[in-house]
Amino acid sequence: MGGNHGDEYEGQVALSNLSRSLEAKDIKGQLIILPAANTPAAQAGLRTSPIDEGNLNRSFLGIANGPPTQMIAHYIESVLLAHADYLFDIHSGGSSLLYQPTLLAPQATNQTLRTKQMALIKSLGFPKALIYPEQLDGTYSSSAAGRQGVIALTAEIAGAGSVDAPALSFLETVLSRYLYHIDITPQLTAPAPKAATALLHSPSEEYCIYARDDGVFEPLADIGHEISKDQLVGRIHKPTQPWQPPLDITSPVQAQVICKRVPARVQCGDCLYELAVAYK
Ligand SMILES: [Zn+2]
Repeated sequence: MGGNHGDEYEGQVALSNLSRSLEAKDIKGQLIILPAANTPAAQAGLRTSPIDEGNLNRSFLGIANGPPTQMIAHYIESVLLAHADYLFDIHSGGSSLLYQPTLLAPQATNQTLRTKQMALIKSLGFPKALIYPEQLDGTYSSSAAGRQGVIALTAEIAGAGSVDAPALSFLETVLSRYLYHIDITPQLTAPAPKAATALLHSPSEEYCIYARDDGVFEPLADIGHEISKDQLVGRIHKPTQPWQPPLDITSPVQAQVICKRVPARVQCGDCLYELAVAYK
C-alpha cells in the first residue's frame, strides 16, 4: 500500500512500477497493490483528503457508510486485510519531513506472528528498523492489520515532497525481497541484504523534538547524526524582529536522528526531529 498519505510519493511510484513489471505467472497466491490508497489525497498531493479532511492512517476501523476516507479505511480493513496474511504500508516524510529509509515495526503480540515478522524484517535489508508495541485498539493501518491477524510493517522511505531516486531504487529492491521472502514471487530471486538491520526504538515522547515558537528553523543536526543530551540541535529565528535572539533548541536525550524537518518556516508544534536509540 502506498498513498495512505497523499503527499508521500516513493511508495506510489514503486508500486505503480511493480504493478506493470509483474506478470500473473510470477505470482503465487494473491497480491493486492494499492498505489494510491487515499486516492483523493494522492490526486491533490496532500497528506489528508481534500473531500473530508480525512487522514486515512488515523481512520481505521473506518465506517462503511461514513465520509469517503472512513469508507476507504473500512474497505481496506474489513475486505482486503480480512483476506490477507501480510501488509506493507509504504510512507515517507511527506511535505515537511525527510527520512533515511527506515522500517517501522509494530511488534506483533502473537508469538508465532512475531517470529515470522522478525524473519521478514531481517530479509528486507533496511539499515534501521524502529520497533514499537502493536496498538490493537489504534486507528493506524498496522492496528487494522493486527486486528485481522495480518503481519504488518510500515516503511518511511525519504520524503520532503519529492521522489528521491536512490531511495526509490532501494525501495524497489526491498519490494522484490519482500515478495520473494513471503513466497509470493518464488521464481524471482532477490539480492540478499549486504548488512544487518540495526534495531532501534523511541522510548518516550522526549524522542520527538517540536518547535516551541513560530519562525525560521535553522537545523544544526542531520539525519543519522548521533547527538548528546543538551546538545544544540537548531535555532528558531524571528527575522522580522532581528533584535530578538533566536530560540535555542536542545536535545533532551542522547540519541540518533531518524528524521528531520525540511521547510524552514515553522509554527509552534511542528515536528523538527525524531530520535531513536538502540533496541535491546
Ligand atoms: Zn505517512
